Amino acid sequence: MTELGKLPGIGGRTAQRLAFHLLRASEEDALALADAIREVKERIGLCEICFNLADGPRCRICSDERREPSTVCVVEEPSDIIPVERTHEFHGRYHVLGGALSPIDGVDPEDLRIAELLARVAGTHEPANADGRPEEIREVVLATNPTTTGEATALHIAEQLHERSPDVTVTRLASGLPVGADLEYADELTLGRAFSGRRRLS
Ligand SMILES: [Zn+2]
Repeated sequence: MTELGKLPGIGGRTAQRLAFHLLRASEEDALALADAIREVKERIGLCEICFNLADGPRCRICSDERREPSTVCVVEEPSDIIPVERTHEFHGRYHVLGGALSPIDGVDPEDLRIAELLARVAGTHEPANADGRPEEIREVVLATNPTTTGEATALHIAEQLHERSPDVTVTRLASGLPVGADLEYADELTLGRAFSGRRRLS
């Protein structure tokens, strides 16, 4: 029960309900769940290109030939990809930073995958595309959360990109997103509008 309570969004009461559910479940069902958890731990890693979750060296999106390799959407966490995908507004690829800049909490640029993003945009990141060519990114959409840390992260990346890859267009999602809220909780209409109305940062 203590282990269940450690899961995100699971409080004491819910942990208790889950424990009772598992007690009532057949041994087969309970062990299937245990196996599924073990499988996630053993098989799921991070994509070598974008750091999304992947059950091989590359995630589903980076392996998809139909996705435009010239546009990259930068998000804080792998879970932020799901709401953006649901809008059907975006057909490019992603880059997962692994958080947002927060000097107070000790999160500095080198703690995020910013260097990897800059290398991808500069075309110096290894490995490149499946066919061995660099991605030739022309637009970077900064879709970090509309929070203080998310905004600071977007500005920092925009400055770095402007310096190193001045020919690349940098855009930020338009307002319409509730300030202070996480992307994960935005409905697809709001997020879809924010996407189509994204503005240029540099
Ligand atoms: Zn990927």
